[in-house]
Amino acid sequence: MNFPTISFELFPPKTPEGYVKLLGIIDQLAGLKPDFISCTYGAGGGSREKTLDVVEHIQNKHHIKAVAHLTCVLHTKDEIKTILEEIKRRGISNVLALRGDPPKDHPDWKPGPKNFRYSSELVAFIRQHFNSYFGIGVAGFPEGHMLAPNREVDAQHLKAKIDAGADYVITQLFFDNQDYFDYIARLKKLGVNKPVIPGILPITDYQALVRFCLLCGASIPVKVHEIFKPLADDPAKTLEAGIRFAVEQCRELLDQGAPGLHFYTLNKISPTDIILKEVRR
Ligand SMILES: Cc1cc2nc3c(=O)[nH]c(=O)nc-3n(C[C@H](O)[C@H](O)[C@H](O)COP(=O)(O)OP(=O)(O)OC[C@H]3O[C@@H](n4cnc5c(N)ncnc54)[C@H](O)[C@@H]3O)c2cc1C
Repeated sequence: MNFPTISFELFPPKTPEGYVKLLGIIDQLAGLKPDFISCTYGAGGGSREKTLDVVEHIQNKHHIKAVAHLTCVLHTKDEIKTILEEIKRRGISNVLALRGDPPKDHPDWKPGPKNFRYSSELVAFIRQHFNSYFGIGVAGFPEGHMLAPNREVDAQHLKAKIDAGADYVITQLFFDNQDYFDYIARLKKLGVNKPVIPGILPITDYQALVRFCLLCGASIPVKVHEIFKPLADDPAKTLEAGIRFAVEQCRELLDQGAPGLHFYTLNKISPTDIILKEVRR
């Protein structure tokens, strides 16, 4: 891969109509010439086939590198091996290896001897059984993962994923670039030199942002509240401010050496298209 990369994240739609609509969005996203597009995977396997359908479509129709997210929570190692064989059979050679979270209907699920405890074990398993066939990405958390005791320990866990064979990292969304720069410095100290691609969420809806960040554990800086809270009832002004914020965030990241930008598109072309046009100008 040539860095810096531009990439987009999609999620598999729930309905056949949603799938058809997504194909249209992918046509438009492909026109923005991304280096890769990734598609998420629901814990427990509910959307696995759809994830693979989306990824296969992107590869076959658009000849763009596509990455299938793969979570191992709820699966046994044998099941994961079968899933990886299916992914390989479909000609997909890039995965984002994740642990995932226990789903709402299995909140107390705990891994046993037949399961993976952490994504680093999944990465090692993929390398053990498939050598270098798969390009492997992993998740990184500039503010530390919600369950990690602190940022230092979380960085060590990221190092374990790299040592197990991961090629690159995509981060959780964040809004304070200093969190990302500090994360990179922590990782460098630990000897991690693989690309850590920042995850960018364009802000288009203040209330939705607050809900989303509560779920994923990303914090919202005071500055973001100050800009977007007063605009909460004005979608047009929120959009405008969201574009301005993201453009500034992306420019600073690239200026300071980030190896790419990974946009959480929420299955929409806009405002990622507008932000990208500004950033590439
Ligand atoms: C870019 C990106 C994409 C994502 N895509 C999806 C998706 O498609 N589907 C989905 O369901 N979820 C997705 N997620 C969410 C992710 O599954 C959750 O954040 C999950 O809680 C952690 O997954 P992980 O792979 O980072 O887990 P891990 O790397 O296993 O880490 C999980 C926790 O365990 C800790 N830990 C790791 N190793 C050790 C160890 N050896 N000893 C003790 N503690 C350890 C970590 O610090 C962390 O607190 C995504 C997240 C990101 C950032």
